Amino acid sequence: MKLLIAGNWKMFKTRAEAAATVTSLVNSLSALPEQREVVIFAPFTVLSTCAEILAKVPGISLGGQNCYPAVWGAFTGEVSPAMLKDSGCDYVLTGHSERRMLLGETDAFVGEKTAFALSQGIKAVLCVGEQLEERNNGKLQDVLVRQLAAGLADVPDNTSAAELSVAYEPVWAIGTGRVAGPVEITQAHAVVRDYLAMRFPLQGKDIRILYGGSVKPDNAKEIISLDNVNGVLVGGASLQAESFSPIALA
Ligand code: PEP
Repeated sequence: MKLLIAGNWKMFKTRAEAAATVTSLVNSLSALPEQREVVIFAPFTVLSTCAEILAKVPGISLGGQNCYPAVWGAFTGEVSPAMLKDSGCDYVLTGHSERRMLLGETDAFVGEKTAFALSQGIKAVLCVGEQLEERNNGKLQDVLVRQLAAGLADVPDNTSAAELSVAYEPVWAIGTGRVAGPVEITQAHAVVRDYLAMRFPLQGKDIRILYGGSVKPDNAKEIISLDNVNGVLVGGASLQAESFSPIALA
């Protein structure tokens, strides 16, 4: 299984800034090991710019941070999986906690997007994760299972492990500098793995589970070495090649 090292640029970067960062990433990741795959989840407005630079670069691909579950239509402000593909994307993020919390995305809507994106030939990275209060109240397992059940409800049973990944991102660790500890990560990833193994008996053990939440060059190696951690989803530290490349190579 290839490790998936994903960068989430959120709502940052002009086209010129994106081009400069992607160019430096291509240079600094020229020796990316065969067993690693990098994906940049960039804002819609810079996707084509990044796609032109990445066109002939193996090992680094592009993703959208969101999509709408329809082929086309009167959905102002939204973008379809086909449009993402047309802009050079192989991947899409679904259910990022910022969209759940700031834009009110429900578990069910996240599930619709995930299944629709897959049906359109885009690989999905479904994000799940608990709030601090939920963890403190012993609700970790309930929250993760609820989000996974809804997020994967309409995903076909025969979806391949290459098409689907899950990112475990504890909300309290995103953008806070407070990384989850090895015990916390291992415990949550075991819950996700058990669910995937139950939901997809044949391929559930091969579906990649990424950890996200304040991953930095100095903690990436330890996190990646943990049980059931098959990659990382990186926000802040993915914005500069100087901090993202060491994570991709950790
Ligand atoms: C994220 O945006 O998914 C994320 C994990 O952010 P950060 O690495 O900045 O915590």
